[in-house]
Amino acid sequence: MTDREAFALYELRCRKHIQQGGRCAICGNYVHLAFFQLGHRIPQRKDMIQKYGSRIIYHPRNMVGTCSLNCNGKVQLTPDSMEEKALAESIRGDITEGR
Ligand SMILES: [Zn+2]
Repeated sequence: MTDREAFALYELRCRKHIQQGGRCAICGNYVHLAFFQLGHRIPQRKDMIQKYGSRIIYHPRNMVGTCSLNCNGKVQLTPDSMEEKALAESIRGDITEGR
């Protein structure tokens, strides 16, 4: 990871922390920024990147902030579910419109 990528990731964590009011997306507990971790709703696995493309997988809307590894493990959407496909389609629409 380059310094620029690391900075972009830190910036995204800060932004998500503010958007979520400092709360975990799963359990709702407050979490200090230092322990706030991002999880992928559609996982960043090779097969998923091939299926949806890296722009969708690494899009901010595919990520949510959580308080712990336990909560982070619950972020992932059910594979091949309607929810997963709907999120991917919605993000694709944002990308197309330049958001
Ligand atoms: Zn939590």
